[in-house]
Amino acid sequence: MQGQELWFYRKMEACQNVERDVDKVLNKFSSARQHINKNIDELLENMETMKEDLLSSGPPGSEVNQFHSSIFRDTLKRSREMALTWGGNHKDIHSSVSKVGKTIDKNFSDKLLNLSKEPTFENTKRMALLNKVINEHFLRQGMLDIADSIAREADLDIPESVQEPFIEIHRILAALKEQNLRPALKWAEARRDMLRQQNSSLEFKLHRLQFIELIQQGSRQQQEILLYARRLAPFANQHPKEFQILMGSLLFLNQGLKGSPYEHLLEPINLIEICDVFVQDACTLLGLSVESPLAVSLTAGCKSLPSLLNIMQVMQSSSVMWSAKEELPIEIDIGASSLYHSIFACPILRQQTTQGNPPMRLSCGHAISRESLNKLVNGNKIKCPLCPVESSPDEAKQLYM
Ligand SMILES: [Zn+2]
Repeated sequence: MQGQELWFYRKMEACQNVERDVDKVLNKFSSARQHINKNIDELLENMETMKEDLLSSGPPGSEVNQFHSSIFRDTLKRSREMALTWGGNHKDIHSSVSKVGKTIDKNFSDKLLNLSKEPTFENTKRMALLNKVINEHFLRQGMLDIADSIAREADLDIPESVQEPFIEIHRILAALKEQNLRPALKWAEARRDMLRQQNSSLEFKLHRLQFIELIQQGSRQQQEILLYARRLAPFANQHPKEFQILMGSLLFLNQGLKGSPYEHLLEPINLIEICDVFVQDACTLLGLSVESPLAVSLTAGCKSLPSLLNIMQVMQSSSVMWSAKEELPIEIDIGASSLYHSIFACPILRQQTTQGNPPMRLSCGHAISRESLNKLVNGNKIKCPLCPVESSPDEAKQLYM
């Protein structure tokens, strides 16, 4: 097993150890509760019978006979015994609870605390920033009530204008997941120009799915299908191949798409893809990253911790000090999905890109600056200077950093 995996495995094991102890406590709690409830029921029943016995034995004020006083004594004795058992149960549960604390101490070392030299979140400004990031994370997840509580407890001032777009995104996503495309279409239509500027295919994809749904209803919708095809026509230039496929599928209007060469149009993956494209486009329009910054930093942190702990041990044993701030003593590979470039230098111009001259990603995956792209365009084609792939400059997408 590799270092990283081993570390995760150990942490998993630690969690399981604690969980096992917590389960024990919970079991003890529930069996004690059952036991006590049963005891109380029994006692109440005894008292009730005693009361009835007394009432029926004679008028109020008459003397208690020997039979009754022996029953009193027995009940009293039984009550005392029960109270003693309950006390014992309580002690037992208490010791199990404190054992959980010990298990936590044993399984989770506080070595991690040593990694950060200065307390990172001790000053109020940083703490407020962290709370803001957490709040935004929950807004992104659509957990608005949690986001609200955090904002209240941390005394964050989150204006409604910040929350609104998230609420809208989640309303549209929820509708999409129930196959209701209308809210998303309305959203995309209202932002058509902005979406076009970022080469978004969202609106076409939504119409396409709506169209497929109509086709599924068969030839009795023929009129409506033809009308809808006309609405799709403006997208034909941008998505020629997909448009052809859609039109081809009309041949199977009578017999249905199932079993036809166009069966793939019915796959549920189309809807999942639309949800992804929608979130991506909405985040871009809002000027947000697609992934939550909190989730990204947490994952990156978890992945790098094992290496950092190792190097810390090595440095301590050889008494080496690392003095450079804001820099790690080793390079850590946290996987391709966590690679970010905060600076991009155009390989053609050999200079850093700017807001006015941003990096553009060609369809082959290579990136060059917009100025270089404009210079390299030949007719309506551009040949990538880094690989020989030719593509259309319209397919190039701006990269945000
Ligand atoms: Zn290329």
